[in-house]
Amino acid sequence: MTATPTPSAPPSWWRHHTGPLTRELQLHPGGFGLGQIPERVCPDAVTDMVCGYCSTGCSLRVHLQAGTAVNLTPTNGYPVNRGMACPKGWEALTPLNADDRATTPLLKHDNGRFTPVDWNRALTTFVSRFQRIQRQYGKSAVAFLSTGQIATEEMALLGALAKFGMGMQHGDGNTRQCMATSVVAYKQAFGFDAPPYTYDDFEESDVLVFVGSNPCIAHPIMWERVMRNPHHPQIVVVDPRATETAMQSTQHLALRPKSDQTLFYGLANLLIQNAGIDPEFIRDHTDHFEEFARFVSAFTLERTSIETELPTEQILELARTIQHGKRVSFWWTMGVNQSHQGVRTAQAIINLALMTGNIGRPGTGANSITGQCKAMGSRLFSNTTNLLGGHDFSNPQHRQKIASVLDIDPTLIPEQASWSYNEIMEGILSKRIRGLWVICTNPAHSWISQNQCRDILDRLDFLVVQDMYPTTETAQLADLILPAAGWGEKQGSFINSERRIGLIKKVAPAPGNALADFNIFKLVAQYWGCGNMFRNWSSPEAVFQILKRCTVDQPCDITGITDYSMLDHCGGIQWPYPAADTKEPDDTSSQIPIGQQRRLFTDGQFFHTNGKARFCFEDSKPMPEQPNRNYPYLLLTGRGTAAQWHTQTRTDKSPVLRKLYPDQPFAELNPTDAKQLGIAPNAPITVISQRGQFRVRALVTNTVLPGTIFVPMHYSGVNQLTDPVFAPYSKQPAYKACAVRIET
Ligand code: SF4
Repeated sequence: MTATPTPSAPPSWWRHHTGPLTRELQLHPGGFGLGQIPERVCPDAVTDMVCGYCSTGCSLRVHLQAGTAVNLTPTNGYPVNRGMACPKGWEALTPLNADDRATTPLLKHDNGRFTPVDWNRALTTFVSRFQRIQRQYGKSAVAFLSTGQIATEEMALLGALAKFGMGMQHGDGNTRQCMATSVVAYKQAFGFDAPPYTYDDFEESDVLVFVGSNPCIAHPIMWERVMRNPHHPQIVVVDPRATETAMQSTQHLALRPKSDQTLFYGLANLLIQNAGIDPEFIRDHTDHFEEFARFVSAFTLERTSIETELPTEQILELARTIQHGKRVSFWWTMGVNQSHQGVRTAQAIINLALMTGNIGRPGTGANSITGQCKAMGSRLFSNTTNLLGGHDFSNPQHRQKIASVLDIDPTLIPEQASWSYNEIMEGILSKRIRGLWVICTNPAHSWISQNQCRDILDRLDFLVVQDMYPTTETAQLADLILPAAGWGEKQGSFINSERRIGLIKKVAPAPGNALADFNIFKLVAQYWGCGNMFRNWSSPEAVFQILKRCTVDQPCDITGITDYSMLDHCGGIQWPYPAADTKEPDDTSSQIPIGQQRRLFTDGQFFHTNGKARFCFEDSKPMPEQPNRNYPYLLLTGRGTAAQWHTQTRTDKSPVLRKLYPDQPFAELNPTDAKQLGIAPNAPITVISQRGQFRVRALVTNTVLPGTIFVPMHYSGVNQLTDPVFAPYSKQPAYKACAVRIET
């Protein structure tokens, strides 16, 4: 199925707009200004832009009066959401008008109180404190932690500024918390971080297997696409919890937590034994299958059943379903990624797709669903783990190429990737990092083992937090708060889960003296003394042109996208879109028409140098923290409702969304356990781990297995419980399982 491109849109507002700049920051004499950075409010009556919450990347039509957004509706005809939006999307404008918006820089004094200061004072203080730390302790003694919520161009500017301009070695994003596992799994298996699917696959499959994924509430519009599947598909859910998605499945495998890798190895063995594989695809397009087949032969049906605690018949039924499916797609999210063995589990799923030839065809694929709206942009352009454009810091040719595109000295580019998020935290603990710049993320709430995190942040010599709100748990720990514009108050691009690049636009002025993150980065560059290095990074669209050039000859080549107006006109464009594929929008002879839904690997060619995909595998490992005598229950965490987003800094601002979830934190507890503990429904209970405790209400329900409890991730207390374990290879935190006890 191909999507209908959106009707011709009027020219983009930034192209025909000739009015004055709405924001020309005036700094006192001797300070720097924003110069000619355009920061214009859309002058049209309506404009379409991508939602700023999750990675689905829905398009929202914003309605404006006098240059300010007054309402929005989902965009009809957009190839992602087709006129639908979830509650967060409908309420996307509300957080912009919150009472607690940051409107001016705030500097903390010795008495612990914040005082408003102007931008000149704020930036002078920021630069002098960071440069003093670097002089005393070395360049890499300052670092940054960023986000999957700001525009791709902003993230790229930050990554380039921090590393090439300010000399930082280390910076990471909160995308480490959600997507790092998939990145590594794809790189090792396919040769590049390349989710292969397009959303049409939700509607084209006859079998959809969801692993550790609850799209019904976590990605509601993707789930709507599944519901529109006309093939009456088998919907399989592999999850220890009876999630909202599991309740609507045709097969729910409620396996023992964290035994999914064993299940997939057992399924692979069954498929091999029962001629359920595609030998031609394996021969022509993959490496290391023989070793893999030998490896999984040890995963007998009996062993798999014992270790997963699933009946043998249920395992056999799933094997038969995969074998007889014509178009089988596999989808995973955080239940896999946030695991102590996440990378190999993701690859165990990829292996099933490869060995059955379920990849590169409509309705197939080994498909990781991303979390945040700009996580995919971060994966390619954050300049943290990868050098810009999916390049490798340790490759001299790559460093030379990027230096040439950016017109900088190649020796400015570090020869190694950044430390990961947890390594940066450890660096603070060991005093190797003393200054930290946190941009649009809230680690004092979201980081695993929160008490330890807050203690670590307290040890910094200087903590700068750049955010829409000065009220977040992390901002309250800061020495300096920089007020940032939010989604809807700036422009740039996002890349969604299916690799589609879409636009965000400025449809409202930022409050007070808050600035777009892009403009804050530009000012920091000027105050730091490296502004000239970024003279060509004059606007988000100018940065988009630079990033395009970084993708030349990469799997993510987007040189065929002329400019922002093309993205606007076409309803977003999926990468890759190399210049060779550029065609007029109405040219139907194009091999890759603009706007069409496109998947990867349709020719069976992967990104390793020999064009083949690799089977990757390893023995399963036990959970690091097993239930025991003192902590006999296993805590599971996950998304609570479709109305809540992460640490709720934005969704909590909406009275409408607040009505859509319980007003008090709760824990799902199996009736057997509740009876044994003498806990009545809705009774207050305390969940206690080795690291902390959290008071919640008991929701007595069969959605969880005996011996497990579930608490939504959105409440601050949850991460006082979680265990700071990190997946090998990806360093992603294993939020999903730790041992707890329950007290009344
Ligand atoms: Fe926004 Fe995601 Fe909801 Fe779509 S599904 S409206 S992108 S939050």
